Amino acid sequence: MGGILVYALHDDEGNFNRNSLGAISEAADLAGDLGSEAAAVVVGEVADDACAGLGAYGAGKVYRARSAPEGLAQPIVDVMAKVTQEEGFSYALFGGGLLGFEIGAGLTARLSAGVTMEVTDVRVQDGKLVAVRPVLQDSAVVDVGYVGEPGVIIGRLNAFDAVERDGGSAEVVDIEIELSEWSTKARMVKRGEQRGDEVNIEDADILVGGGRGLGEAENFKLAEELAEALGGAVAATRAVVDAGWYPYSAQIGQTGKTVAPKLYLAAGVSGAIQHKVGMQSSENILAINKDPNAPIFEFCDLGIVGDLHKILPKLTEAVRAKKGG
Ligand SMILES: Cc1cc2nc3c(=O)[nH]c(=O)nc-3n(C[C@H](O)[C@H](O)[C@H](O)COP(=O)(O)OP(=O)(O)OC[C@H]3O[C@@H](n4cnc5c(N)ncnc54)[C@H](O)[C@@H]3O)c2cc1C
Repeated sequence: MGGILVYALHDDEGNFNRNSLGAISEAADLAGDLGSEAAAVVVGEVADDACAGLGAYGAGKVYRARSAPEGLAQPIVDVMAKVTQEEGFSYALFGGGLLGFEIGAGLTARLSAGVTMEVTDVRVQDGKLVAVRPVLQDSAVVDVGYVGEPGVIIGRLNAFDAVERDGGSAEVVDIEIELSEWSTKARMVKRGEQRGDEVNIEDADILVGGGRGLGEAENFKLAEELAEALGGAVAATRAVVDAGWYPYSAQIGQTGKTVAPKLYLAAGVSGAIQHKVGMQSSENILAINKDPNAPIFEFCDLGIVGDLHKILPKLTEAVRAKKGG
């Protein structure tokens, strides 16, 4: 049984993406159960130490393609396809995110593989991997097996936890890669990430989510003040992000981030299914909405029917008073 190959995305400073580290951890656990090995592919100039450090997440080997450009899907498909075929990997696992989806889909086409997307769990059954993915707007889950090899598994964002283990150091193997003709047609001009207040909403225990009910961009300060009083961060719906009221990095949902804080307080958020899929795992959901028929009241734990412009400042005041400031 061949092993599991993971693509490890990194930024320009060589810091690996949390979803990629999660995918390596998941692959290492599964490979342990299969009696095989987990390995990672790193594209671009990344230091030996940083590559070897992926061993701490369970990678036994890291294949580094220095000459290929990081951040563009097709060159990475070239690298993943070469390593998968030449080293005989049975599965390729991606941590999710837009690039993971694009590379995973490209690899599937290139290798005529089977693919499962939006995977939330993977298990070993009869010596093979079975991917679990939600369907029908997350109202049911299905098990997906693979009839041939390799099998491509693309995780949902944040589906796999990055778990550091003791003292692992991966062997780093440099590989030469000849890019396909079409892989050189695009060139990376600039890479960057838009951040809101340097807060990663995926890590926050408390989130105040603002929707179109806030009325205008300036009113996000109501959500920010409450989040600050609670020691949390601010998140947003796609409607307000598209309107330019708040940064894309704060968007929760199908085309944004998946979060699972201890408390998600939704203010002026209707609770559309595309938003729900990104926050439904929150431990406690509190909704403030002036429409008693808003869909969010169907799945929140506590609902307040009323005008957020009146309720949010009062709530902030009450939290501050409780905290003695
Ligand atoms: C392919 C696709 C992908 C999508 N991906 C995402 C995604 O990732 N994330 C996402 O969020 N959406 C996504 N959407 C959009 C989604 O369908 C909804 O349009 C969006 O979530 C609605 O945002 P909203 O709740 O801010 O706005 P609205 O639906 O307009 O809701 C505003 C709410 O505020 C309430 N309100 C108004 N005034 C007040 C007030 N004064 N006090 C209290 N409440 C008030 C209203 O009653 C209403 O319920 C996607 C859509 C598609 C088609």
